Amino acid sequence: MKLCVVGAGGRMGQYVLELAGAAPDIDIVAAVDHPESPLVGTQVAAGVTVDSDVEAAVAAADVYVDFSVPAATAAAAHAGAKHKVAGVVGTTGLDAPAESALAELARHAPMLLAANFSLGVNLLMVLAEKAAAALPGYDLEVVELHHNKKRDAPSGTAIALAKALAAGRGLDYDHARRYSREGNVGERPADEIGVVAVRGGDVIGEHTAYLVGGTERIELSHRAANRSLFADGALRAARWLHDKQPGRYTMRDVLGL
Ligand code: NAD
Repeated sequence: MKLCVVGAGGRMGQYVLELAGAAPDIDIVAAVDHPESPLVGTQVAAGVTVDSDVEAAVAAADVYVDFSVPAATAAAAHAGAKHKVAGVVGTTGLDAPAESALAELARHAPMLLAANFSLGVNLLMVLAEKAAAALPGYDLEVVELHHNKKRDAPSGTAIALAKALAAGRGLDYDHARRYSREGNVGERPADEIGVVAVRGGDVIGEHTAYLVGGTERIELSHRAANRSLFADGALRAARWLHDKQPGRYTMRDVLGL
């Protein structure tokens, strides 16, 4: 499987390069980062140096893995659509142009977008959905913690977790979601799902779904211990995805959840 890494110089990109470099079934053929990245021009695999031409890099591969920024996600997805290259996308905080580029990619090649590639988090989503359905009347809240370099809030995983709770409860997510509270907000409406983002230090990622009843409380938590967890999941997704039909896939498909 010929792999291109988008966002090669980033925290996640480095892990993807490390794990893919050690995998006998994966051939790293291209790596791309922002033109001003100090990594551009450095060698990351045999015969491969980091480039800043997203289209040429994606076109060289069977599948690309993208942990970058929304602008690069859009550029890589356009290239993937044009050259029919499968895309595994982990970038979060996507804007409308990136979302529409990914929709275009899914019409021409297999595409998998995941806010979180860990098996445990994807299982947590399933459990949260079931718990919200099984416990009507319990207040639903999500709290997430991440490192102080994270750009987007709440995290993509927290949003996905809150959406899973909404699905289990049969709520319209956009109506139910409440991103933090401030001032004289009044009593908590029953059909609200609060989402709170905490930032600090080097926390890799922690998510808890709270289901709070009158006499008891359930907390469903996941804590990531190492970023290689996400890179490993992304490569598992890439192996699964690269020979699929064009379309949009999820980690639940990959993991059979
Ligand atoms: P990072 O800031 O360390 O890395 C981002 C990289 O993208 C940088 O090297 C940056 O130079 C590069 N970049 C910027 N503009 C670019 C361009 N035009 N073309 C190519 N590359 C460009 O961030 P990170 O911690 O590696 O996270 C990256 C993204 O992945 C974030 O959105 C983060 O939330 C997300 N993430 C997702 C998961 C998951 O499981 N889905 C896990 C961790 C992080």
